[in-house]
Amino acid sequence: MLKVEKLCASVEDKPILKDLSLEFKKGEIHAIMGRNGCGKSTLSKVIAGHPDYEVTSGDILFMNEQGKYESILELEPEERAHKGIFIGFQTPVAIPGLDNESFLRTMYNQLCEREGKDRMDAFDFRKFILGKMEKLNMGEEFLNRGLNMGFSGGERKKNEMLQLALLNPSLAILDEIDSGLDVDALSIICKDILSLKTDNSCFVLITHYNRILKHIKPDFVHIVSDGRVVLSSSDAQIAQEIEEQGFDKFLKGA
Ligand code: ADP
Ligand code: MG
Repeated sequence: MLKVEKLCASVEDKPILKDLSLEFKKGEIHAIMGRNGCGKSTLSKVIAGHPDYEVTSGDILFMNEQGKYESILELEPEERAHKGIFIGFQTPVAIPGLDNESFLRTMYNQLCEREGKDRMDAFDFRKFILGKMEKLNMGEEFLNRGLNMGFSGGERKKNEMLQLALLNPSLAILDEIDSGLDVDALSIICKDILSLKTDNSCFVLITHYNRILKHIKPDFVHIVSDGRVVLSSSDAQIAQEIEEQGFDKFLKGA
C-alpha cells in the first residue's frame, strides 16, 4: 500500500531521516519504535506532506486504485489525505476560533464529496457524530469548544481517533496515540482501533511503549535509530523485550 524508499529528509537543513526504507501492506498492523528524537514523528509528517520537512532524496510511493505505485512527494497534504492517508499527530494543534464540530463536519463532508455522496447537514451530522463520540466516551461539550482548545493530552488523542473514525482511511499512522491516556482510555482506544481496522486497511502505530501492543498485536515491529530502520521483525515479542531491557541491546545488535 505504501513504500518508503531510501528516504532522506531534513528540517531546517538538518538531516533527520537517513536512507529510511519501510513497506506497509494492506491488512497489516505495524509498530514503529525508537528512542526520543530518532525521527519517528518526522517520518509521519513527511508522509503527510508537512511543509517544514524537505525530502532530499528517496521516494514515498502509494498504491493507486489500479494497483500501481505512484510517488506522492509532489502532492499537497490534502491530496494525500484524499488518497486515504491519515496521520494521528503526536501533538495535535489547538486552533482557537475554529469550533471542533465545524471542523469535523467540514472534514466529513469533504470525504462525502470525494466519494460522490450527499453532504450531511448540521442537524444530521450532530446525531451522527454524537454516536461516534459516545463510543469514545467523549461528552457533547467537546463539540462546542475550539479545536483542541483546553483539551488535555488524552482528550486531544481521542479527538484524533474521532477523526479517524469519521474518515475511515486506508492507511492510518498513529503517532503516540497512547501517550496521555489512562489505562481505561487506552483500552477503549485500542478496541476502537481494532474495530476500525479492516482487511483493506493498514495501521501503523508509533509508540515508545509496549503497553499499546499488548492490546493490539502488530504483524511487524520496526526499530528506528538515528533516522534509519535498524531492525524489522515479525516477532511482536521484541516490543516486550525492549520494554524490559531497553533499546540498547537492539541498537548494539544492529
Ligand atoms: P521522535 O518522534 O522519534 O521522538 P522527531 O521526529 O520528533 O523524533 O524528531 C527527530 C529530530 O528532528 C529531533 O532532533 C528533533 O529535534 C528534530 N526536529 C523535528 N522536527 C523539527 C522542527 N520542526 N524543527 C527543528 N527540529 C526538528
Ligand atoms: Mg515523536
